[in-house]
Amino acid sequence: MDTRVDVVVVGAGPVGLFLARELIRHGLSVRIVEASAHQSQHSKALAIMPRTLEIFESAGVVAPVLAAANKVADVSIFSGGRPLGAIPFSPKNTRYDYVAMVPQDVTEAILVQELAAVGGRVEYHTELIGLESTEQGVQVRLLGGADVLARFVVGCDGAHSTVRHLLGLPFEGGAYAQAFLLADIDTETDLRPGEMLLCPNAAGAMACFPMNAKRCRIVAMVDHYDVGEPDLAYVNRLVEARGMPQLRATRLIWANRFRIHHRETPQMRDGAIFLAGDAAHIHSPFGAQGMNNGLQDAWNLAWKLRFALAGWAKEPLLESYSAERHQVAHAVIRGTDALTRVMATRSPLLGALRNQALSILTRVPAFRALFVSRLSEFDVHYRGSTIVSGNGARAADEACLTPERLFQALGNGYVLLLPAALDRQAFAALAARYGHCLSIVNARAERARIRLIRPDGYIAYEATEATSATSAARAIERLLGEQLQAAPAAAMSELDGAVAA
Ligand SMILES: Cc1cc2nc3c(=O)[nH]c(=O)nc-3n(C[C@H](O)[C@H](O)[C@H](O)COP(=O)(O)OP(=O)(O)OC[C@H]3O[C@@H](n4cnc5c(N)ncnc54)[C@H](O)[C@@H]3O)c2cc1C
Repeated sequence: MDTRVDVVVVGAGPVGLFLARELIRHGLSVRIVEASAHQSQHSKALAIMPRTLEIFESAGVVAPVLAAANKVADVSIFSGGRPLGAIPFSPKNTRYDYVAMVPQDVTEAILVQELAAVGGRVEYHTELIGLESTEQGVQVRLLGGADVLARFVVGCDGAHSTVRHLLGLPFEGGAYAQAFLLADIDTETDLRPGEMLLCPNAAGAMACFPMNAKRCRIVAMVDHYDVGEPDLAYVNRLVEARGMPQLRATRLIWANRFRIHHRETPQMRDGAIFLAGDAAHIHSPFGAQGMNNGLQDAWNLAWKLRFALAGWAKEPLLESYSAERHQVAHAVIRGTDALTRVMATRSPLLGALRNQALSILTRVPAFRALFVSRLSEFDVHYRGSTIVSGNGARAADEACLTPERLFQALGNGYVLLLPAALDRQAFAALAARYGHCLSIVNARAERARIRLIRPDGYIAYEATEATSATSAARAIERLLGEQLQAAPAAAMSELDGAVAA
């Protein structure tokens, strides 16, 4: 085993697996260590949101995920068995206009395979027990194994993160009074596999996520979590009390009753050590954002570490990770907390008001659009980040000349998207300076604007219609100059030739 590597990833949950695979795909030396003897066998997080499917596409892992998925494109709301409203789940401007239901153990198995396909493998039974930052890098102490010296360490080691504890970082927040029940059940009823059910109820909220026509995941708020193992009879009593007796379970595949916390660390980086996923933020399962949020941490961090290891990054690029991702995690925690409290209320008056509001709001186009964009995670943006100019919104996929779609160009370096008719000469100096990590792509749309897209698919800069090519090139050069090292002079003169040619 290498005792000097670029990155040690701690924890082989979905976040650690995806991050390690992304780093290895780009040629970095990575060790991924996991305290357990094998991957978790539990189906835990089920919903993979459209934005996560998009990043999976850019990373090249979406096909096996889709092959394993049940696609859900409708949300129906019932209370006491009575329909309150429905929202078609159809986000615009994406190939992934549905939620992909994939049990977490299946997602992890796919990521382990994808990791192996790029030459990586998880070291099981290998627990991180110590960390020390030195001038050479981070000294990583492993239980039963030799120490490793890593340039960077990423703690993807879950809610009880050893990395976070060793760094002494706070995990601020609180716990919900109620407990949650998760149960995967088979039912005799014909489910609509494309329809998710939300059931706010005087006895406590419940949701049902279909896995196929005969199997679904029940998520319910319950009063106690320490009253023995939930069994089939318990689940059936609960489902009936929540007004959905037609969901009668014939088999209980897996069930878990647990308390939920909402917690976050405001600092996701300490020098060369980073935190991602549940190690940095946890929240209520309402909204199904947990795993998705962690995978997006990994996506945001992977290219920044890669650029730093290649000698391309200046400090603000690495520093932006914590600021950008903490802002997103904080908003997700606030949003899921509000949703949980609204769904959980046991007050008859507030419950009646909520139900009345839901039956009206689900017919309002603006509310539907907001609900869908929140759940899809398309509203994640990096406005205010030091490495973007403008609103830092997600770039939707679009037709280009070569490659044919923008998303085929993402996941590697920056992409400068130019209208096809624009003369590239104004961008020659920029291409020479940053050609090692920037590619120029022509948009097909006639009225396309000059845009700089980050490797993770967020807009770093967008020109207005009135901006000239020269001023856009200058603005982009200024922005990149604050976060990236220019190419060495020799490479620049070669590139100058290439652009001129
Ligand atoms: C019962 C349950 C139900 C859930 N349901 C949902 C849901 O419906 N929807 C949703 O979005 N999310 C859900 N979640 C949350 C979701 O599972 C997490 O958000 C997701 O697993 C986070 O992934 P992660 O990789 O950050 O951490 P984890 O999946 O927790 O992985 C962390 C890994 O690190 C390893 N590790 C820990 N310490 C060390 C160490 N010192 N050295 C080496 N390895 C270490 C652990 O063994 C573990 O394998 C659920 C979680 C649980 C527990």
